[in-house]
Amino acid sequence: MVTREFIPPRRLLLGPGPSQVHPRVLRAMSAPVIGHLDPAFLAMMNDVQSLLRNTFQTGNRFTIAISGTGSAGMEAAIVNAVEPGETVLVGVNGIFGTRLVEVTERCGGKAIRLEAPWGSAIDPQAVEQVLRRSGPVKAIAMVQAETSTGCWQPLEAIAQLAKQHDALLIVDAVTSLGGIPVDVDAAGIDICYSATQKCLSCPPGLAPFTISERALAAVTRRRTRCQSWYLDMKLVAEYWTEGTRTYHHTAPISMLYALREALRLVEEEGLPARFARHHLNSNALLTGLLELGLPPLAQPGQRLPMLNCVTVPDVIPEAEVRARLLNRYGIEIGGGLGPLKGKVWRIGLMGESSTEAHVLRLLNALEELFI
Ligand code: PLP
Repeated sequence: MVTREFIPPRRLLLGPGPSQVHPRVLRAMSAPVIGHLDPAFLAMMNDVQSLLRNTFQTGNRFTIAISGTGSAGMEAAIVNAVEPGETVLVGVNGIFGTRLVEVTERCGGKAIRLEAPWGSAIDPQAVEQVLRRSGPVKAIAMVQAETSTGCWQPLEAIAQLAKQHDALLIVDAVTSLGGIPVDVDAAGIDICYSATQKCLSCPPGLAPFTISERALAAVTRRRTRCQSWYLDMKLVAEYWTEGTRTYHHTAPISMLYALREALRLVEEEGLPARFARHHLNSNALLTGLLELGLPPLAQPGQRLPMLNCVTVPDVIPEAEVRARLLNRYGIEIGGGLGPLKGKVWRIGLMGESSTEAHVLRLLNALEELFI
C-alpha cells in the first residue's frame, strides 16, 4: 500500500504563529526551482534585501534572510556578536528572554539576567543600574515582542544606554516585525532578527536579519572564530554580497520566493496602515474578550496588538475549550508556556490573520462555547 497524499485540514490560524498565509505567497512558493547561483535568482535576492531594509526601516547594508527559523536568527545574533567570556545583559520577562540567556551561555558568554514580572516590560532604570555596577558589557539583548506574555518592550531609552556604555543592542523582533514599528535605525538597534511566520505571514523557514556597521565592525574585530560555521555571518555574507556571491550553503529557493512575495504585500499595504490595522483589530478583540471575562495579562500601555495574551479564569477548562475551538470551529489559538501553562490564552492577530472577520469569528465561537 502506498502512503496517501497529505491534505491538511482547513484551519484559521489565530495562535502565536504561524499565521495565515496569503494565496499569493503560496503561489510564489510553487514556482519552478532555479539554481541558487542563477543570475535571475541573485537578482531576486537583491529585491528581498531591499524589501527587508524597508520593513526593518534600516539602511543597513548587511540585511539578509538567514536559512532557518527565528531561533536561527537568535543564535546568529549571539554567536556572531559574543565571544567566549564576554558579558550580555539579557532582559528576561518571558520564555524568549530565558532562551536568549541559554543561547548566550551555550556560546560561552556570561549572561546577566535582568528580570521583570511576566507581562511587564523591563525598566530602563534597572538596565542603567546593572550597567553601572557590572564590568564591561558586550551586548544588551531584549525581546521587543515577548510572545509568551504579549508584552511590548520599549527600546529607545535602552538603546541610548547601550550607546553610552559601548554595548551592542540586540533585539528579538520575531513577533513584532511587520506588526508594530521596529525602526532599526531610528531606535538605534545594532542587531535585529525576526521570523517569517508571524506578522510577515509567510510559512516558517527564514529569519530576516540585519546588522549595523558598528556591530559589523565588532564582528570583524573578533579575536576568536565564530563557534558556528553555518551561522558565521562573515561566511554567509560572501553569498549575499553582490560582487562575491560565493557558495556557502544552498539557499532555500522556494522560501525566498515566498518571502519576496510576502514583503511585496507589506510594501503594497504600507507600514503605517499595517500597524494601524493590527491595533484596530486587537482593540476590538480585547474589548470582546473582556466582555467574556478574559482580561489581558500585559500591563496597560505595554500590550502587543499582534499577540493578545489573556488570563483564563479557573472556571473555564482552558485546554478543553481550545481543543473544541480547533475541532468544531477549525480555529487555532495558543495556550500558555512555562509558568503560564493552563492559565492564559495567546491569541495571535498577525499579518493576514489580523482582520475584523477573524475577530468576529473567534468571538462568536467563544460565545457559543461559553453559553
Ligand atoms: N523569539 C520569539 C519572541 C518567538 O516568539 C519565537 C517563536 O515563537 C522565537 C524567538 C523562535 O522562533 P522559531 O520558533 O521560528 O524558531
